[in-house]
Amino acid sequence: MVLLLVVATLLARREGYRFGPNLVVRCRQDHLFTTIWVPGVSVKAVRLGWWRFQWCPVGGHWTLVSPVKDSVLTVEERLVAGQHHDVRVP
Ligand SMILES: [Zn+2]
Repeated sequence: MVLLLVVATLLARREGYRFGPNLVVRCRQDHLFTTIWVPGVSVKAVRLGWWRFQWCPVGGHWTLVSPVKDSVLTVEERLVAGQHHDVRVP
């Protein structure tokens, strides 16, 4: 099981997703922020496959968020996302 998660994480990384302590995610209302996203590990959010139900610190609401590829972000978007980080608990 652990091996499976490691493989999944590596594959996601190769696709351009930065899973880990500083993954940029986008909520349903297009807010960007960074969060900790370790595939398979989560105590603060409900995981729904690729989506996750969690608190959005930008809009101050509960929402579905999904990972954003680093390569599709503009420099500005990355800065904005970097300024908003939710609680540092996976
Ligand atoms: Zn939001």
